Amino acid sequence: MWSYDDSRAAVRDALRLSRAMTLKAAVADLRLGGGKGVIVAPAVGRLSSERRHGALLDFADAVQSLGGRYITAEDVGTSSRDMSVIAQRTAHVAGLARRRGGSGDPSPLTALGVVAAIRASCERAFSDRSLRHRSISVVGLGHVGSRVAKLLARAGARLQIADVDERKQPLAGQLGARWTTPAQALHGDVDVVVPCALGGFLDELTVPALRCRVVAGAANNQLADDRIAELLSARGVLWAPDFVVNAGGLINIAQEAGGYDPGAARLRVNAIADTLGEIFEQADADQTTPLSAAMKLARRRLSA
Ligand code: NAD
Repeated sequence: MWSYDDSRAAVRDALRLSRAMTLKAAVADLRLGGGKGVIVAPAVGRLSSERRHGALLDFADAVQSLGGRYITAEDVGTSSRDMSVIAQRTAHVAGLARRRGGSGDPSPLTALGVVAAIRASCERAFSDRSLRHRSISVVGLGHVGSRVAKLLARAGARLQIADVDERKQPLAGQLGARWTTPAQALHGDVDVVVPCALGGFLDELTVPALRCRVVAGAANNQLADDRIAELLSARGVLWAPDFVVNAGGLINIAQEAGGYDPGAARLRVNAIADTLGEIFEQADADQTTPLSAAMKLARRRLSA
């Protein structure tokens, strides 16, 4: 659920996000295709609860009309409580609360996968997967980013964190992290930048100013366009493809089919580190970018 400038921007976003879902499901080797719905809401944060409820029910009717070809779940702007509202009108909804037989909020598992991916990226870049004393910026402290920051703090990383929402600042004190601005977090002199806000921020202007060695985070569609992957490689920045890094939530939700087992879900999510390691190796072997190697793997799986 998001506020867009106009409906064309919303359609463009839905198409970009659904492409990412297709790539994500294929690389994670899930028996799912890819799709995404966006709910266009004016001033999401200030929407009355009545209008919000109505928008969720309208969306549920749209999902129901697709007869099961599309299964919805929570993402930016929605929660597992919202999925319960959608479930009043359609059975094609995942990520319901655990007490309702679902796998719950996917964010903790997305965060677990992001940290596994950061370790795999550090192993590639620094020949050391330990995060102790590694300097790391987390940009965006929502459902996923706040959990990633906590896991990184627990692993002994030296953290700086940022969000456009100043109400997130107390988290810095709790984690012993430095609070900074989103721009400084992105361009700071750190080993790893972990983007956990929105996409499209890696472009011709921001990439030349990066000072980190690794970018690996949850945000969808981080590259303004696919050519930016080459710019990152030319700058010596190891970019872990977002649709590989942030697949944990989808992997978790996919475990709902056939009975949800949290232990099995965690194991599969942690395997993101192995998949990413293979993608980095393939990129080296083909003398290409991690994005090209990940897309090659996705295409191979899709055609199979
Ligand atoms: P969220 O809405 O809970 O959190 C986003 C946070 O980013 C908010 O705190 C917001 O204030 C902050 N933010 C927005 N613009 C910012 C900016 N320019 N600079 C700094 N902070 C900014 O969303 P989330 O569920 O944590 O998801 C974060 C990202 O990860 C999104 O791109 C989402 O699509 C992606 N993702 C999430 C999941 C999941 O399980 N929730 C799974 C896969 C991918």
